[in-house]
Amino acid sequence: MNIIFDIGGSHMRFASSNNGETLGDPIVLNTPQEYPTAITQIKDVAKSLMQSKSVNGVYGGIAGVLNEKKSGLLRAPHLPNWEGAELQKDFSEIFGTQVGLENDCAVAGLGEAVGGAGKNYSIVAYLALGTGVGGTRIQNNKIDQGRANFEVGHQIINITGPKCPGCGGLGHLESYVSGSALQKQHGRKLNENGDEQAWDEIAEFLSIGIHNLNMHWSPDVVVIGGAIGSHEGLKIETVKKYLKQLPSPFPKLPEVKKSTLGELAGLYGALELLRNMNN
Ligand SMILES: [Zn+2]
Repeated sequence: MNIIFDIGGSHMRFASSNNGETLGDPIVLNTPQEYPTAITQIKDVAKSLMQSKSVNGVYGGIAGVLNEKKSGLLRAPHLPNWEGAELQKDFSEIFGTQVGLENDCAVAGLGEAVGGAGKNYSIVAYLALGTGVGGTRIQNNKIDQGRANFEVGHQIINITGPKCPGCGGLGHLESYVSGSALQKQHGRKLNENGDEQAWDEIAEFLSIGIHNLNMHWSPDVVVIGGAIGSHEGLKIETVKKYLKQLPSPFPKLPEVKKSTLGELAGLYGALELLRNMNN
């Protein structure tokens, strides 16, 4: 059996896969701010998923910038006390096997590209609007690699804009469309009904982010995920309307779609990582 995981800024999910194709019921926990607390909880998860069976491999994503060896976290704006954590070594001790680690957004994007809203497109740009904003480019069902992972949430939309909740820079995409920025701006969670103006504004800022992604990455489709991205209040038609208003040198705009795998995109992506490793 294999274990797959997805550790985001707010939740961490673990599941087993006996055949490398399907997932068992995921275990979902709030992500603790303290890394040692997380390790204690993950030891319990391991006991309950493994039930004394042996594990062939453990694969998944973590929210943050990985070090160059992809063995741990270099920076984690939403989990600052996890910075420097050597997840590969620690998980390998807990599960007694090899561990593959990627950025959480890259893994979720892979999941959407292989079996979600990006299925049957060659070049998929994935944008996750969650606690922070992350994104990745998937080409022919493989995560596009950079020196570090991509950090599209920290692209600058307005150099005199509000502080980015993730890194403190000014006017980043994350300053406008992330869960933490919206919580700060509105002092509460937005509703589908009654907050139309706020959602319209989010759609407009998001369209600028998508325009920039399109200029850099020229994808076939842009898939929007994460809790804010998947929220009913955010209308994809409004995002497309604003996107069309921005002059583009390309003859055709990419498709823009909402994620279809939702919060399970990361686990499905991790399953694909596992398949890639074994092929
Ligand atoms: Zn930032």
